Amino acid sequence: KVPPTLTNEPVKEFNATQQKDWDLLRASITKYSDDVLDIPLVINGERIYKRSSKTQVNPAKHSHVLANVAQATPEDVEAAIKASGAAKAKWASMPWTDRAAIFLKAADLISTKYRYDMLAATMLGQGKNVYQAEIDSVAELADFFRFNVKYAEELYSQQPIESSPGVWNRAEYRPLEGFVYAVTPFNFTAIAGNLVGAPALMGNTVVWKPSDTAVLSNYLLLTILEEAGLPAGVVNFVPGNPVEVTDVVTGHKDFSSLHFTGSTKVFKSLYGRIAGNLANDVYRDYPRIVGETGGKNFHLVHESAAVDHAVLSTLRGAFEFQGQKCSATSRVYVPQSMWPEFKQKLSSAMQSITVGNTTDPDLLNNFMGPVIHEQSFEKLLSVLEQAKNDPELTIVQGGNTDKSVGFYVQPTLIEASSPDHEFFSTEFFGPILTAYAYPDAEFASIMEKIDTASQYGLTGSIFARDRTAVRLAEEKLRYSAGNFYINDKSTGAVVGQQWFGGGRMSGTNDKAGSGNILTRFVSIRSVKENF
Ligand code: GLU
Repeated sequence: KVPPTLTNEPVKEFNATQQKDWDLLRASITKYSDDVLDIPLVINGERIYKRSSKTQVNPAKHSHVLANVAQATPEDVEAAIKASGAAKAKWASMPWTDRAAIFLKAADLISTKYRYDMLAATMLGQGKNVYQAEIDSVAELADFFRFNVKYAEELYSQQPIESSPGVWNRAEYRPLEGFVYAVTPFNFTAIAGNLVGAPALMGNTVVWKPSDTAVLSNYLLLTILEEAGLPAGVVNFVPGNPVEVTDVVTGHKDFSSLHFTGSTKVFKSLYGRIAGNLANDVYRDYPRIVGETGGKNFHLVHESAAVDHAVLSTLRGAFEFQGQKCSATSRVYVPQSMWPEFKQKLSSAMQSITVGNTTDPDLLNNFMGPVIHEQSFEKLLSVLEQAKNDPELTIVQGGNTDKSVGFYVQPTLIEASSPDHEFFSTEFFGPILTAYAYPDAEFASIMEKIDTASQYGLTGSIFARDRTAVRLAEEKLRYSAGNFYINDKSTGAVVGQQWFGGGRMSGTNDKAGSGNILTRFVSIRSVKENF
C-alpha cells in the first residue's frame, strides 16, 4: 500500500529568514556555474560522450555556457530503441511495487539531497527564479512521482465486478507492447519527469528526447532516477536534432506511444507522420498519442468581480514564469465600466516588476527572468513591433526588450480596439497580454468571441461575484478550457488537485496529475478462468 499520508510536497518559501536554504542554493548555483558540464547520451545505462557543437547556455546571460550536449545520431537512436526492447521484459514483469519504490525514492531524493541542485539546474538552464524553480523542479516533480504511484495502485485494483461460481474474471494491466517515446519541453522540469515517469511506472520502457534548453536539469533528473534504482535501459536519454531523432523513433515497428508536451505545430506534424506510418503498416499496434500543446488562455472579468483580486490574478497568470506556460493568461476581457481602474492598477503593478538575472547569487530578487532563447526573443520582439505599428493596438505598459546580456522581454499589456484582432487567437508564449474592454451589457456575446477566437481549449477563468454570471460562463465556455477557474488565475494547477490538460488544439486532454493519464500507457488483457 502507498503510504496513506500522501500530500503535495510543501513549497519552500525562501524568505529572508531562511539563511540556510539560501546558502545551500547559492552553493549549488556556484557549482553549476563554475563548470561547463559534458552531457552524454545515456543508452542502456551507458554514458556516451561526444564532441558536439551543441551547447546549453544560461538565457539570463547568454555568454555563459552551462553544458556541452552530446547529439544522438540515427544509429544511437536505434541503439536506444534496442536497449528499451532488451530491458522491457524484466522491467514489465517486476512487481509493480518495486517500480513504485524507485519513483517514491526519487521523489524523496529530489525533495532532500538534490533539492538545491535541481533548483540551480532549472534556474540556470531554464531562466527561472527560485520560487518558480521550487514549484516546478521540486514540488510538482515530486508530486507527479508520488501521486502517480497512488493512482497506479487504484488502477491496478480496478477489477471486473462479476464472477460467477466456478469462474474468476480478472483484468491484467499490461504495459504497451513496444516502447514509449517521450518528447519533453523546456518550460517544466516536472513535466519532463511525468512524461517519462508515468509510462515507466506502468512497466513501459522509454526513449527520451529532452529539450535542448532543459538538458542540464533533465540529465540531473535521470541520474536521480538511477540512484533511486532505475535499471539500465528502462529510460534511454537521447538529446539530439528533433527531426532526426523523431524520424528514427516513429519509423520503428516497436513504437507504441508518443508522450509529448510542446508546440501545437510540432505535435500536429508528429501526429500526421504517425498516421502516415500506420497507414503504411509500419507498426504492430495503434500507437497511443498523448500530447499537451499550446493555449490562448483567457481571463473574463464580469462587472461584479472584485477588481483588485482580478488584477492581481491577471498579473500573476500573465507574467509569472515569464509567460512561458501553456496555461499562461494571454488575453483578458474587462467590462468598459471597470477598464480604467483595472488598466491603471494592472499597469502600476507591472511597473513594480523587476526583470533581470534571477540566477546570479546577488540578484535573486528579480521577479521575472529571461525568455528561453534567442528564437523566442526574436519572435516576441516581432510581436511587439507589430503592436507598435498596428492602429488597432495600443501598448499600455511595457514593450521593451534587451538581449545584450540575456533574453529579456518586459511584461507588456496591449489594448486592442476589436475582440476580433489576431492577438486574441495567436499564441506568443511570452510575457505579452492582450486586453479588450467590452461593453458591460455584452457579457453574453463576448463569451461567444472568447469561445471562437482561438483554436485552443486549455485554460481560462471567470472573475465574478454574481453567481448567475459564473453559471453562464461555465455553460457558454464549456469547451473553451480543459481547466476552468472561477475567481482564480488560469495557471498553477496542482498535481492531484486540478487535473491538467485541455482539448481542441491544446492537446489530447488526458489530464496530467490524474489517474487517467496512466490508463493511456497500459493495454488491458481480460482473463477468464474456469475452475
Ligand atoms: N500545469 C501548469 C499550470 O497549470 C502549466 C504547464 C504547462 O505550461 O504546460 O500552470
